[in-house]
Amino acid sequence: MNRSTRKIAIIGAGLVGSSCAYSIVNQGICEELVLIDINHERAVGEAMDLSHCMNFTNTRTKIYAGTYEDCKDMDIVIVTAGPTPKPGQSRLDTLRAGAKIMESVVSGVMESGFQGIFLIASNPVDIMTYQVWKLSGLPRNRVIGTGTSLDSSRLRTILSEIFEVDPRSIHGYSLGQHGDSQMVAWSHVTVGGKPILQILEEQKERFADIDLDSIVEQTAKAGLEISKRKGTTYYGTGNSLAYIARSIFNDDYRVMAVSTILDGEYGEYEICTGVPAIITRDGIKEIVELNLTEAEESQFAQSNDILRDYMKIIGY
Ligand code: NAD
Repeated sequence: MNRSTRKIAIIGAGLVGSSCAYSIVNQGICEELVLIDINHERAVGEAMDLSHCMNFTNTRTKIYAGTYEDCKDMDIVIVTAGPTPKPGQSRLDTLRAGAKIMESVVSGVMESGFQGIFLIASNPVDIMTYQVWKLSGLPRNRVIGTGTSLDSSRLRTILSEIFEVDPRSIHGYSLGQHGDSQMVAWSHVTVGGKPILQILEEQKERFADIDLDSIVEQTAKAGLEISKRKGTTYYGTGNSLAYIARSIFNDDYRVMAVSTILDGEYGEYEICTGVPAIITRDGIKEIVELNLTEAEESQFAQSNDILRDYMKIIGY
C-alpha cells in the first residue's frame, strides 16, 4: 500500500457514495479522493460540492471526478454503485441488476492495475462482495463488505436506549446476512463488559419487558423503517465505510463485523457473510470465531443457506 499519500476511489457517487465521501473528508481519512460514476456529471457535481468544504475542515483532501484509469494507484476502492431497492423490494430482489453492475466495476478497476483493497457496500452486499472476490482474483483479505457492521451498530443503538448506556460501552454482533435472516449472537453481547444474558437473569423484574427476538427483528428491519420514512438509508453505511477505511490506513487491528469470505471458519466454505474480523492495513488480518451456542450456530447456518440459495441465481 502506498503510505505517503492515502488514496481512495469511490465508485458510485449516489447517496451512499457521497455520504461516505462527506464522512471521509470531514475525518481527514485520506489525502486524495476520486469519485467515479456512470453518470459522470453527478460525480463532477459531488466532487465540486465536497471540495468547497475545504475551508472548514482540519485537513485538505484533493477531490475530483475521475475514471477507472485512476484506480491504478488507489489504496482502497469503495464500491457503492448499484440499484437502490424500490419500496417493497428486498435487497435480494436487486441481485441480478447489481451483479451486472459489479461485473463492469470489477473489470474497470482491475484493468487499471489496481493492487489495493476493495470495500463493498452495494446490495445484496454479502453476495456482491463474494462476486467481487471471485471476479477480481484478489486474496480474500483484500475484499471486504460492510456486511452486518451497520446492523451491529443498530443493535448497539437499540440496546443503549434500553440499558441507558453509551452504545460504545455495549459490545456484540449481528451475524450472517445483511438482511432479514441475520441473527444476534446473544451469548457474546455485553453491556459494560457484563454479559447481557446474565444481566437479564439477575434483574428479571427491571427488564421484564425485554424481548430479545423483537430486538433482533427491530435491528434487521431498521433499514426498512428508515426507508418507509425517507425513502432510503445512507448515513450509517457511509460512516461504516469511512470507519473501515480509517481502520485500514491506521492499521488499527480493530474488530468489527464485516462481510468476509469464509474458508473453514465457523465450518463454512465458499461464502461471504457477516462475522467479526480484525481490520489492519492488509485488510482482514483474522476472522474472530465466536463460540456460538448450538441454537446460534443453527441460526447462523440458516442465514448462510439463504445466501447460498441467492448466490445460485447468479451462477455461484
Ligand atoms: P443511488 O442510486 O443514490 O446511487 C447509486 C449510484 O451508482 C448512482 O449515482 C449511479 O449512477 C451509480 N451507478 C450505477 N451503475 C453504475 C456503474 N455501472 N458504474 C458506476 N456507477 C454506477 O443509490 P444509493 O442509495 O447510493 O445506494 C447504492 C448501493 O448501496 C445500493 O446497492 C444500495 O442497496 C446499497 N446500500 C447498502 C447499504 C449497506 O448497509 N450495505 C445501505 C444502504 C444502501
